[in-house]
Amino acid sequence: MHKGSCLCGAIRYEVSSRIDTLLLCHCQRCRKANGSAFAANAPVPTTAFRIVTGEEQVKGFRTEAGVERLFCSQCASPLISKRDSMPDIVRLRVGTLDTPLDITPTAHIFTASKVEWLCIDDAIPQYAERPPT
Ligand SMILES: [Zn+2]
Ligand SMILES: [Zn+2]
Repeated sequence: MHKGSCLCGAIRYEVSSRIDTLLLCHCQRCRKANGSAFAANAPVPTTAFRIVTGEEQVKGFRTEAGVERLFCSQCASPLISKRDSMPDIVRLRVGTLDTPLDITPTAHIFTASKVEWLCIDDAIPQYAERPPT
């Protein structure tokens, strides 16, 4: 069981599944949404993700066809994204976890969109766009 929350603490969530994949996404949409060089996202089963408190503070933003990004309407912490074509999976923004995550990143994805000032010098796989599934 993992637990997480937004910056202001209004929203608390639980993840009842294992988290075994961690993707560092360099796409422009994730960069904008996080104000950062990349986002750290983990796919988890939709049924395993549960908002415990603050459901009424959750807002959604649709950035492209079929993708919705959920965030806290008070503090703007990004929490998950959902793709209409993959209703069984949500992509958790693992930076909002409060419990430790005992895995290392799986891959860098969308590196074709990476910021020019960041040098990726680790040994994990890199994919120019979406990784093969
Ligand atoms: Zn918040
Ligand atoms: Zn992305």
